[in-house]
Amino acid sequence: MYLAVLFLILNILHIIVKFINDLEGRADYYKMAMAKCTFCGCEQEDYKGTYLFKNDGSTNYYCGSKCHKSHLKLHRDRKRVAWTEAYKNVHKKINK
Ligand SMILES: [Zn+2]
Repeated sequence: MYLAVLFLILNILHIIVKFINDLEGRADYYKMAMAKCTFCGCEQEDYKGTYLFKNDGSTNYYCGSKCHKSHLKLHRDRKRVAWTEAYKNVHKKINK
């Protein structure tokens, strides 16, 4: 009787450890699937945004429609738009 209870507790512990390992594995997977926006420079999970594959082999990634339209439709220069990383690098507004 006591042995059966002990095995049951060990089984439950094993299941919990396996579940935690699976969660950590998934966290690593999500860390690897990050993409950097071509226009604003923010990092985001790559399934959220839009990829543009060009015929010359290069790829552009846009985090949202704001960056997509600003780059392709409105032809904005990312160094002159205040909310982008390129603007902050040019005007040295990043505190290091
Ligand atoms: Zn963006």
